[in-house]
Amino acid sequence: MSKPIVAIVGRPNVGKSTLFNALAGEKISIVKDTPGVTRDRIYADVSWLDYNFTLIDTGGIEPDSSDMILKSMREQAQIAIDTADVIIFLTDVRQGLLDADAKVCDMLRRSGKPVLLVVNKVDNFDKFLMDTYEFYNLGIGDPIPVSAASKLGLGDMLDEVVKHFNDTALGEEEDEIPGIAIIGKPNVGKSSIINKLLGENRVIVSDIAGTTRDAIDTVIRHNGNDYNFIDTAGLRRKNKVKEELERYSIIRTVSAVERADIAVLVIDAKEGVSEQDAKIVGIAHDRGKGIIVAVNKWDDVEKNNKTVSEYTNKVRQILSFIPYAEILFISAKTGQRLAKLFDIIDMVLENQTMRVQTGVLNEIMTEAVALQQPPSDRGRRLKLYYMTQVSVKPPTFVIFVNDKELMHFSYTRYLENRIRDAFGFKGTALRFIIRERK
Ligand code: GDP
Ligand code: GDP
Repeated sequence: MSKPIVAIVGRPNVGKSTLFNALAGEKISIVKDTPGVTRDRIYADVSWLDYNFTLIDTGGIEPDSSDMILKSMREQAQIAIDTADVIIFLTDVRQGLLDADAKVCDMLRRSGKPVLLVVNKVDNFDKFLMDTYEFYNLGIGDPIPVSAASKLGLGDMLDEVVKHFNDTALGEEEDEIPGIAIIGKPNVGKSSIINKLLGENRVIVSDIAGTTRDAIDTVIRHNGNDYNFIDTAGLRRKNKVKEELERYSIIRTVSAVERADIAVLVIDAKEGVSEQDAKIVGIAHDRGKGIIVAVNKWDDVEKNNKTVSEYTNKVRQILSFIPYAEILFISAKTGQRLAKLFDIIDMVLENQTMRVQTGVLNEIMTEAVALQQPPSDRGRRLKLYYMTQVSVKPPTFVIFVNDKELMHFSYTRYLENRIRDAFGFKGTALRFIIRERK
């Protein structure tokens, strides 16, 4: 179920951002608005043929000296090796093959990950194709010529990328152990939660051999059920540069969330919830994952009988785009309500795979329409014909209507609320696809 991750690695100025933008089109997730921090695109959802994948650009800041370039490229390559299923190694036909290319290429080859050698800036295939031949010297297969700027050769390149999605590497462990990603800012207590869970439950496997991902997996058995906890705090890189740290922690979160069924956003109760938390949990929301908000260090908060409701309101307000999320107040230190966390995880797992019969859905729809008239525009009124659930994780519904343009976001939201009134679906996003009936 998890979407593959494709990472772009390459020297500065070979065209990584240009390629990223060409592939991502307008469907981008931007981490913006953080003062002084990465404003560029880090990851995006890409579709090609029947495939969907997450593209990440590992390139962060631009190093100035050649020493720095190599060091920074090695870091990038390591992140790609840790997180990606397929790596695009991007080079530049104009600058030709450089020493740093060969060194990084060695590192990528040794990782055993699928690597595609892509040569950019081949703006004119007749004129420059010969020049790509020197890249055979890298010994990682045929160079694939592209021009990111003129969008040439991208289709052929993507064909090669998606070929690797069928590799065994992507099959992963298909034994259906639910993945629970523990996400959040540094120091909120992610590792402490996992450690406490380790201490109180049976650990089946820790640090699964062969997982080269930059997150540590631990399978824990609780009440006879297994859960794979994915710890994004796992490895800390000693990066001096704040931009890089930020970028890498986002890439790590994206990769952990991608593999998970549920994301547990950990918040430090003393610090409170912030826009940064919203950004982090937004990654899980965009991907339709189950979401639980765990307010940690609850032992350290002075409480009266209003504290919980006040805190809940604050969380709901700042994280208003995930009204369906469950909120839980825990302490990794004392173990308070950690058992409850499993109950909520079980509930969310159940909700995200729940299927509602078409007949029942249409009863709800008919009733909802009778209670609140659908919107109209210039004398034309929205008609809803039929609704059916087409998939799970997240539960996804198709609504057939007379005119898509008339289906306002607010009316979809209204229908969503009616469905939630009837079935709850707590902890999971719901998706709606509006189709015109011909
Ligand atoms: P990055 O540092 O690897 O992210 O590289 P950029 O995407 O910022 O591109 C570096 C420079 O190369 C920019 O001036 C781009 O306009 C240029 N560039 C990118 N792709 C192509 C291409 O396909 N052909 C040509 N001629 N220039 C390109
Ligand atoms: P991470 O960076 O999110 O993995 O955070 P850590 O698990 O390393 O915890 C950061 C700090 O918070 C450590 O000093 C922990 O001892 C402390 N901490 C974690 N959980 C709790 C808690 O429930 N209560 C209190 N009082 N401190 C905690």
